[in-house]
Amino acid sequence: MSDCCSAPGLLPFADALTNMLAQVSSITDTLTLPIEQALNYVLAKDIVSPLNVPPHDNSAMDGYAFAVASLAKNKTLTMVGRSMAGAPFEGECKAGECIRIMTGAKMPSDCDTVEMQENVSVDGEQITFLQEKSFGDNIRNSGEDIKINQQVLQAGRKLSAVDIGVLASLGVAKVSVYRKLKVALIATGDELKIPGQALRSGDIYETNSFVLSAMLEKLHVEVINFGIIEDDFKAIKAAFISADQQADAVISSGGVSVGDADYTKTVLDDLGEIGFWKIAMKPGKPFAFGKLPNSVFFGLPGNPVSALVTFHQLALVALTKMQNAQSLQRTQLTVKCVSDLRKSPGRMDFQRGYLSVNDAGENIVKSTGAQGSGILSSLAKANCFIILPQDQGKVMAGEKVTVQLFDHFL
Ligand code: AMP
Ligand code: MG
Repeated sequence: MSDCCSAPGLLPFADALTNMLAQVSSITDTLTLPIEQALNYVLAKDIVSPLNVPPHDNSAMDGYAFAVASLAKNKTLTMVGRSMAGAPFEGECKAGECIRIMTGAKMPSDCDTVEMQENVSVDGEQITFLQEKSFGDNIRNSGEDIKINQQVLQAGRKLSAVDIGVLASLGVAKVSVYRKLKVALIATGDELKIPGQALRSGDIYETNSFVLSAMLEKLHVEVINFGIIEDDFKAIKAAFISADQQADAVISSGGVSVGDADYTKTVLDDLGEIGFWKIAMKPGKPFAFGKLPNSVFFGLPGNPVSALVTFHQLALVALTKMQNAQSLQRTQLTVKCVSDLRKSPGRMDFQRGYLSVNDAGENIVKSTGAQGSGILSSLAKANCFIILPQDQGKVMAGEKVTVQLFDHFL
């Protein structure tokens, strides 16, 4: 039986990731955008609150504001003014008096408590309070959401819809963000046809650029799609040169094995410093990574499952670093596996699993079936990867395994 370290020439997955991350650098160009255009951009500077939110103490109810000491002496107070949202009462409210107040209206300076209108009886200007109140009831305090000078959002955060709302609540109209990364996609293969075209004998539909550009859209980058490039030295070279001139990162799929039609390796050796790695992972053993004159290059395997898994587990992590975003947080759990899993020691497996909760309330995972690297439908049926360490052998139903939940990219 072979163990992890006897697999000749295979780079452990963790080493591949570390090695790759050490070689990519983050972009530095920033731009200033109105917040309504900033969704999903990576924040370039920390956001520190310029004010208290809310900026003033205000009423949480429609009702009456007063000083609680005043109510202790007299259950009936005289209403002497109104405070509306956006039209505060700026006069005096003395002992024995109260102010009509609406939700969100600024608290009058002499008042400290609000009673809701349902708990009073009204006779002209005479307001009788039917219940005891405690100091500060029904008030939203200045700064209770966010305090002035508080750090609210950190550089590196990818702005969410809620973040845009938080920025608006601070009165921040524009933010400094990193520009979008530009990523070129190249699919290689004479057998590839785009959906909508008829297949000739021996053809298949091009899948990788579709799934990759959908995932890149979720990453919020600019995709420059070169479509399908035929297995021809000149065509491949021209595509790589053009991609390198336009993009921060170039991603190709297919052609990284060493078949007769795999010109990609020759072209890349010619153009840049590319390492052709055999990673101890399954799916996805052949993977190329390195530098072209202006860009970083990721060469994914051709099989769609392998392309997708290496993109998700390796390239996406590097692209996230390049765009200055906080590193991806992927949830891992240890759960009971209810299927037998085939596995030989030597490579780290990313098997497709379906995580659910059984009748006893336990998390369980089952295999989605055939794990061949061309079987993309088994990935569509999955909601997690079952990650089996490199030196592990087969798994028997009932054993615990580590699962990584699919994130929003999948
Ligand atoms: P290659 O690395 O070019 O030898 O490709 C390995 C396998 O993946 C072959 O079966 C190819 O037909 C298939 N393949 C390569 N590129 C794609 C693609 N873009 N979409 C779907 N299948 C592909
Ligand atoms: Mg090919």
